[in-house]
Amino acid sequence: MGDWFETIADVEATPEEADRLGAEVLSWLVEQGIVMAEQTDCILGNQGHRPGPNYPAATVEPWADLHELGTNGFRVVAGRSVFYSMGVDQVVCPRCGAVVVDDQDKDSWNNFSPVIDEWYMGGTGVRACRHCGKPAGINEWRWSPPWGFGYLGFEFWNWPMLDPGFVAAVSNRLGHRTVRPCGKL
Ligand SMILES: [Zn+2]
Repeated sequence: MGDWFETIADVEATPEEADRLGAEVLSWLVEQGIVMAEQTDCILGNQGHRPGPNYPAATVEPWADLHELGTNGFRVVAGRSVFYSMGVDQVVCPRCGAVVVDDQDKDSWNNFSPVIDEWYMGGTGVRACRHCGKPAGINEWRWSPPWGFGYLGFEFWNWPMLDPGFVAAVSNRLGHRTVRPCGKL
């Protein structure tokens, strides 16, 4: 069985506020019993927080076996990060609606993807649409499945699908827009 991840990626947090906001969300999740306070080796060699007794409150269809898995952790990621999904089906221009990346057309990805490295290396990540010519920020394009680029994210490993209401509650605490990359290793 492959391992599955789902991420709540904050695409608006600044580098300066990421640590503080990450710690605030973590302590709220611990208070709610959604994750355990202590860190253990529960994410493929990374430290994480195992699901707490009330973890079902965060998911649509909880399953009892989650507690038994070796990889079942929650992790706060702070620092410049590409919060990726497994693969890209499409990237659509937020200005004109043109499909600028299509997974059937490898060249379209090869033309577009350098913007990720540029952003990661400290660039603006702004790029002009090849159809309408208007510039768009890296988080403005409509990515499917979702990708996020930012300084704060929350990873859940092998959890059942997160409840949209829970994700909205996290976004509200952050006061920021979030996106939800996911994938299976
Ligand atoms: Zn466009």
